Amino acid sequence: MKFQSTRDKNAAKFSAAQVIKQGLAADGGLFVPESIPTLTKEDITALCAMDYPARAAFILGKFLTDYTAEELLCDCREAYAATSFVGGAAPLHQLGDTETHVMELWHGPTAAFKDMALQIMPRLLSRALVKTGEERTALILVATSGDTGKAALEGYKDIDRIKMMVFYPVDGVSVVQKLQMQTQTGDNVNVTAIKGNFDDAQSGVKKIFGDAEVARALDKQGYFLSSANSINWGRLAPQIVYYVSAYCDLLNAGKIAYGDKINVTVPTGNFGNIFAAYLAKLMGLPLDRLVCASNKNNILTDFLATGTYDRNRHFYLTMSPSMDILISSNLERLLYFVAGPEKTAAYMKSLNETGAYTVDAADLAAIKESFDGFYADEQDTAATIRATMQDHGYLIDTHTAVAVSAAKAYQAATGDKKPMVVASTASPYKFACDVYTSLYGEAPESPLAALSQLCEKTGVEITYPLRGIGERTVRFTDVVDATEMQDAMFAYLAK
Ligand SMILES: *Cc1c(COP(=O)(O)O)cnc(C)c1O
Repeated sequence: MKFQSTRDKNAAKFSAAQVIKQGLAADGGLFVPESIPTLTKEDITALCAMDYPARAAFILGKFLTDYTAEELLCDCREAYAATSFVGGAAPLHQLGDTETHVMELWHGPTAAFKDMALQIMPRLLSRALVKTGEERTALILVATSGDTGKAALEGYKDIDRIKMMVFYPVDGVSVVQKLQMQTQTGDNVNVTAIKGNFDDAQSGVKKIFGDAEVARALDKQGYFLSSANSINWGRLAPQIVYYVSAYCDLLNAGKIAYGDKINVTVPTGNFGNIFAAYLAKLMGLPLDRLVCASNKNNILTDFLATGTYDRNRHFYLTMSPSMDILISSNLERLLYFVAGPEKTAAYMKSLNETGAYTVDAADLAAIKESFDGFYADEQDTAATIRATMQDHGYLIDTHTAVAVSAAKAYQAATGDKKPMVVASTASPYKFACDVYTSLYGEAPESPLAALSQLCEKTGVEITYPLRGIGERTVRFTDVVDATEMQDAMFAYLAK
């Protein structure tokens, strides 16, 4: 299986190892598979008898054909081990006897769904270096506003031939997020705070990436820069697995028969997670509607309704911060599949130049064949957290609440009674403050106290990576000016 850029009409081809190492295509497009492998009835039957790591290796093998089955199985067994995904990699939780099944994607080492991709992707990258004859060490630079940094640190720590440096805005992440990063373990990682906001951290990283001088200096020391970005194919492919796995689990539980269609709802930011569901559908998994759930930043709801994507709008900070996004990068991959590379390149050019584009009627119709869009504002989100607790005794986080609200809105609007798998993307304890306030109408004593207070009142166990977070050894306390990021990087490498 080869890969090509979403914007290249000549369709130059690259191996999976090359695209995982490279990240972004040279023309600025994203890498997509040249064709879609199929999932047969025999495949699904075989997958039903497997555990999650084996299912993952099987699905990845359809795309990463330059990796051996043994390599993939070995990496998946390590990535999705029962010791790091405690309680299973992607278990389903049915809400009472309703048609809604919550797919819990947050049992990994940072209690958020980014672990599903970031536990496996570094292993794939490490092998890609060997497969592409790369002799240098990859230096991964990340600017983070919270969740991605921690998930990337946990994924890349102690992986061969990779070093990682994470920059975060010193006052721009939550207390829990800061502690999670400052107490990070691993011999090949560094965490540095920036005096400034997230944009300063991000611009600083971009500047380092764009500097040929820096690249030469790094090369001399045996390093090259790489990113852990969510547009990397190595992060997208592993996300297809859990949709297939959920279908198998519903089959095994006797909730559906083979061929029965199910719907999914996904709390969406960068459009990576829901795009993976679309790929599963293209492969032949019996998925019907893909409901794209947004928070108050409802640019995708508008796009799916009108065909116009317009980021010239107010940006809201919400209690589901991982979905506070106005540029959903992975949407470009969907455009490629419905409109082809030439129109995709034109839409993206318009987005760059004017901040907006409008797809034509045929493209919008093709998108609507699979997708619906609904959004939840802050009040809906809080009300959904309360209602889910009251009606089903089930605790959900703010992002999952946006999705549950959207799933209900879809079901109410259509009367569709098919099983609905709702992707749950974070542990409620990751956003304990807002969850607590939503449930009880008053703020907890402090952000850290929110965890124990929420546990006391609900009786739900604190997710393992967040237990005792206040008592761990702080390793990383450096704070530098945004202008000193490059120096900090070389200082770290010289250590
Ligand atoms: C990243 C993230 C999302 C959004 O996922 P996309 O793939 O970017 O659409 C939703 N919820 C949580 C908790 C996340 O961390």
